[in-house]
Amino acid sequence: MTDRSEGHNPLQLTSLRTKLQCQVLASGDPQYDVARRVWNGVIDRKPAVIVRPTSIADVMQAVRIARDHQLPVCVRGGGHSVAGKSVANDAMMIDLSLMTGVQVNARAQSAVVQGGAKWGEFDRECERHQLATTGGVISSTGVCGLTLGGGIGWLMGKHGLSCDNVVSADLVSADGSHMPVSASQNEDLFWAIRGGGGNFGIVTALEFRLHALKSVHGGLLLYPRSSAVDLLRRYRDVTHVAPDELTAYAALMIGHGQPMVAIAMCDSGSRSGGANVSSQFYLTEAPAADLTGEKKYTDVQSMLDFTAPAGLHYYFKCPFLRELTDEAIRAIVEYGESLPTEQTQVVLEHMHGAASRVPATETAFGLRRTHYSINIMPAWSDPSLAEKCIAWARGFASMLEGFGASDAYVNYLGDEGPSAVRASYGANYERLAELKKKYDPDNFFHFNQNIAPAP
Ligand SMILES: Cc1cc2nc3c(=O)[nH]c(=O)nc-3n(C[C@H](O)[C@H](O)[C@H](O)COP(=O)(O)OP(=O)(O)OC[C@H]3O[C@@H](n4cnc5c(N)ncnc54)[C@H](O)[C@@H]3O)c2cc1C
Repeated sequence: MTDRSEGHNPLQLTSLRTKLQCQVLASGDPQYDVARRVWNGVIDRKPAVIVRPTSIADVMQAVRIARDHQLPVCVRGGGHSVAGKSVANDAMMIDLSLMTGVQVNARAQSAVVQGGAKWGEFDRECERHQLATTGGVISSTGVCGLTLGGGIGWLMGKHGLSCDNVVSADLVSADGSHMPVSASQNEDLFWAIRGGGGNFGIVTALEFRLHALKSVHGGLLLYPRSSAVDLLRRYRDVTHVAPDELTAYAALMIGHGQPMVAIAMCDSGSRSGGANVSSQFYLTEAPAADLTGEKKYTDVQSMLDFTAPAGLHYYFKCPFLRELTDEAIRAIVEYGESLPTEQTQVVLEHMHGAASRVPATETAFGLRRTHYSINIMPAWSDPSLAEKCIAWARGFASMLEGFGASDAYVNYLGDEGPSAVRASYGANYERLAELKKKYDPDNFFHFNQNIAPAP
């Protein structure tokens, strides 16, 4: 078995396997090549070793061993970082994908979820008790990875971001010790992990506040692309006055070879009034398809899964626009005429309501305002298309700068680097850098959207 850690204090796999009670994979193991794969098929990296803990004790032990061997550590949750931050060459990958437990306390309206669980697993367990909290809109995304960076989703208008619903966390720090984190324990870390990503430690469990939810009105509304300008204007007008309960996204995409424009929506209000929710978006012509209606929340939470299959090659550019002016809409539709592949999409996400009303310094997530994230997301399978797709996305994003587009959500960043990370935290960056110095002065956790320790 190859020992890829040569150059560091050599790591003996046999001794590692003895010291750890959990699965340890290395090159040559049948599961190694599957375990090192992440959602974005562009990423092809080979960790020295993959450790798959099943308990907080395993995680603590793995961190200590990595430190002893000066082995860098990357942490894999759901594997959806578009830049592949959870897998690194020649590192110890701590892969949390066996830690997927979800424990709902229906009476307390709370749930504890382990560090490697995905939203699909979490939502299903909560739904058994007619409870839910804000979560990501693709069910295979990691609960903790997404929440640590903020967490936008269908319930954000009413209940805030995912991170706004965190009550407490169990964290393994850079020296391998366990730190309980909440409003009354390690309070500064509690502030930092609600937006600061994986910079402060490995979160082995999160406790969430849950909210009563029986069903929602939601789904997809599709029009031919020729209606794009009209539909995006309607989208702008409806979202401008939308109640907190209604969150809607709009998308330019290709369906069955036909250029389409779509609205995806979720109304969680008990006053939702059924079909009236969708009809606000209707144009004078009939939609190509109206797939909206009263649904289970988990159905709406997985309705977009087909748009993001694992293994395709992806690249993201996701700047924010404060306003969707007529000119910006025309420019988006015009640029969207030339989607470089059939799998490419441009998605407009409306961030609003409770998520935007939390004071910007209350959590590390700093961009608290009403705005639209313009997600430019080329996808391709033929590697020779990479250059064209990436250039198209960059061109689109720089065109939007002319309309005032700026900064971006940390969870949607690729490899833009330190200035983009800084911008995505706004005024909170300095405090985050100070806390990084306090809790991880050597930048042990650096395979992430990295916050460098303050000098
Ligand atoms: C298809 C798709 C859909 C998405 N939809 C949404 C959405 O609806 N809302 C939204 O807000 N974001 C969304 N995102 C962005 C998503 O939130 C980020 O990519 C997030 O980082 C994914 O977390 P993960 O655990 O799946 O990824 P990973 O690649 O496993 O991890 C991402 C980062 O988080 C760190 N990390 C993961 N788990 C832990 C942990 N337990 N402890 C410490 N660090 C950890 C990793 O080390 C890495 O740096 C989406 C991304 C994709 C690709």
